[in-house]
Amino acid sequence: MRIEIATLFPEMCEAVLSESIVGRARKAGKITVHCRQIREYTHDKHRRVDDTPYGGGMGMVMQCQPIYDCFKAVCDEFGAKPHTIYMSPKGKILTQQRAEELSHMEDILMICGHYEGVDQRVLDKIVDEEISVGDYVLTGGELPALVLVDAVARMCDGVLPDESCFMDESIYSGLLEYPQYTRPEIWENEPVPEVLLSGHHKNIAQWRLEKSLKLTELRRPDLYEKYNQNK
Ligand code: SAM
Repeated sequence: MRIEIATLFPEMCEAVLSESIVGRARKAGKITVHCRQIREYTHDKHRRVDDTPYGGGMGMVMQCQPIYDCFKAVCDEFGAKPHTIYMSPKGKILTQQRAEELSHMEDILMICGHYEGVDQRVLDKIVDEEISVGDYVLTGGELPALVLVDAVARMCDGVLPDESCFMDESIYSGLLEYPQYTRPEIWENEPVPEVLLSGHHKNIAQWRLEKSLKLTELRRPDLYEKYNQNK
């Protein structure tokens, strides 16, 4: 899979994308993620990429031309139009299911807005979908794009040791995950639940399922109801 992030702050994205599981997957060639500076594509001699909004109002709006030229350069390099996503609080809220669907795509371009957003005309011309990371407004699309890359990348082939690593987790499994424990056996007078030390796999699985069910019922009645309906 190839992911291209079009942004005014590529270094900010690169810093995150070079670390941990995504960083290792990139080094190992399991996924390709590249950050592209939108400013490189402006025709403005002062390298401007934004201007004041028509109709008045606060802030600046990112202009069509640099984003469109950046998009065309990505299309040329990929040899085809990538699935193009604009990170936006007006988009559909990201779900595990959508992240999984995107993990099967070949080429994705994520566009990060900034300031007041992006001129609607270029969005209408090139964007296939708008994705939001939640009902709150951030200063830019970089953090949302990084969230999306992370959620998608961990479901790409070979990024995690095997599929169970993401299938057994909260949300994907339809439930919230049971509590996890590790060494030492007793910490601050708090012991690890005895069943987890028993080596009895069936009892452990049963205990984990019960904990998952209880936690989901308590914290996410919506998921709990859906889980019971699909059983
Ligand atoms: N004026 C816009 C509005 O009211 O819808 C908000 C612009 S926001 C300050 C700047 C940029 O951050 C947006 O263009 C978008 O790319 C990104 N952004 C902000 N919140 C986001 C969210 N919840 N999900 C995805 N992207 C977001």
